[in-house]
Amino acid sequence: MFAQRIQHLTSSIIREILASAQKPNVISFAGGLPAEGSFPDIDWSVLPNKVRQYGMSEGEPELREAIAAEARQKGISCDASQVLILSGSQQGLDLVSKLFIDPDSNVLVESPTYLAALQCFNLFQANCRGVNLSSQGPDIANFEHQIRDYKPRFTYLIPSFQNPSGTCYTPESRQAVAALLDQYNLPLIEDEPYCELDYDNLAKPPICSFMKTAPWIYFGSFSKVLIPGLRIGYLIAHPDLITPLVRLKQASDLHTNRPGQWLALEYMNSADKPQRLERLREFYRVRRDAFAAALESEFADLAEWQIPSGGLFFWLKLKKTVDTRPLLKIALEAGVAFMPGEAFFAEENPPHGYIRLNFSHTEPELMVEGLRRLRKVLLESDNA
Ligand code: PMP
Repeated sequence: MFAQRIQHLTSSIIREILASAQKPNVISFAGGLPAEGSFPDIDWSVLPNKVRQYGMSEGEPELREAIAAEARQKGISCDASQVLILSGSQQGLDLVSKLFIDPDSNVLVESPTYLAALQCFNLFQANCRGVNLSSQGPDIANFEHQIRDYKPRFTYLIPSFQNPSGTCYTPESRQAVAALLDQYNLPLIEDEPYCELDYDNLAKPPICSFMKTAPWIYFGSFSKVLIPGLRIGYLIAHPDLITPLVRLKQASDLHTNRPGQWLALEYMNSADKPQRLERLREFYRVRRDAFAAALESEFADLAEWQIPSGGLFFWLKLKKTVDTRPLLKIALEAGVAFMPGEAFFAEENPPHGYIRLNFSHTEPELMVEGLRRLRKVLLESDNA
C-alpha cells in the first residue's frame, strides 16, 4: 500500500523520549528544548491584518530583506531574492533531500550529527557517511578521502556548537572546508541554529562566506533565539539553487505561516535586539556553567567532556564503552532522561559509550540530582 521509501521511515527516538521525559518526576537532559523562562511575551497587536490572507511561497519580503541584511553582516554575500522562509529549519532538510537525493545517493555528514537530519536523509534512501570531527572541526584528510571514495551529492555540516558534540569549528577550519568543497565542487548545506547562542564570543564566519565556486545553502532558525513553537526558519541559497527550492516549498505547504513571520520580523527590527540576545546568552551561560560544575562533582570519574562554548548540549564520552541505548529505559524509570549517543551516528554499527546531555531546560537546582540519578544507573547497569 505504501511507497517503498516508507521502509526507511524511522521514528525519531527523541520524539519518543520527549513524551516519557515530560512526566513530572523525570529530570530531562534528553531533548534540545530552550528554557521557557527565556521566551518573550508575544505582542499580537504588531500583526497587520494582511497576515490573515495567503502569502508568497518565498516568504514575507520585509523579513527576507532583514535576514539578507543580517547575513551580509556575517559575510555572506546575498540579497533578499536568495532567502526562502521555512516552517522551521527542519523543513530545509526535507527540501534539500528532495532536491539532491536519489535512492542510494551518498551524503556526507559529520560523525556524530543531528539525528533528525539522518532521519530525513535516510527517508529519501541516502547512504549517509560520517566525516571524523575533532574539537577544531572536520578532519580534512578524512573529508577529502570520503569525497573521493563516495562522490557524495552534498555535505551537511553544523559548524557552530554542533548538535550533539558542541564543537565549534575554528575560522581556519571553516576556510579549509570551503576550499575543499570548492575544489570538488561539492554542494554545502550549512545548518546554523545555534550560532547566536555563543557564550564565549568566538569568531564564527560562515563556511559559505569563503566559498567561491561550489553551490551552498545556509539554514538559520528563530527557534533558539525567539520561540520554537512559532516554527520559523529560513534558508539562503546560492542563486542557482533558489528557484527549485521555492518550487519544492510551494509543493510542500504553499508558504510559511504569516503571523509567525511577522513576529520574527518584529524581533529582527526591535531596537533592543542586541540586548535581548545578550540577556539570552547570559541566561544560558549561567546554566552551562552550573551544569559544568554539577558534572565535575558527579561525573569526573565516569566520563570525559569538553565544556561547550555555545549551544545547548554537553557530549560525554563514558570511560566504559557501553551501548547506552538499553540504559535509557532504566534511566527513565529512575527519573532521569538522556540521549544515547548511538542515535547521532550514520553508521549501522555506531560507536558506543557516548551520551548527549541538554543543559538549557533544567533548573540549575535540579542538575546535581539529575546527574546523581544517571550516575546510579550507569554504575548499576551490568554492562557499565
Ligand atoms: N538543525 C539542527 C542542528 C537542530 O539541532 C535543530 C533543532 N533541534 C534543527 C535543525 C531544527 O530547528 P527548527 O526548530 O528551526 O526546525
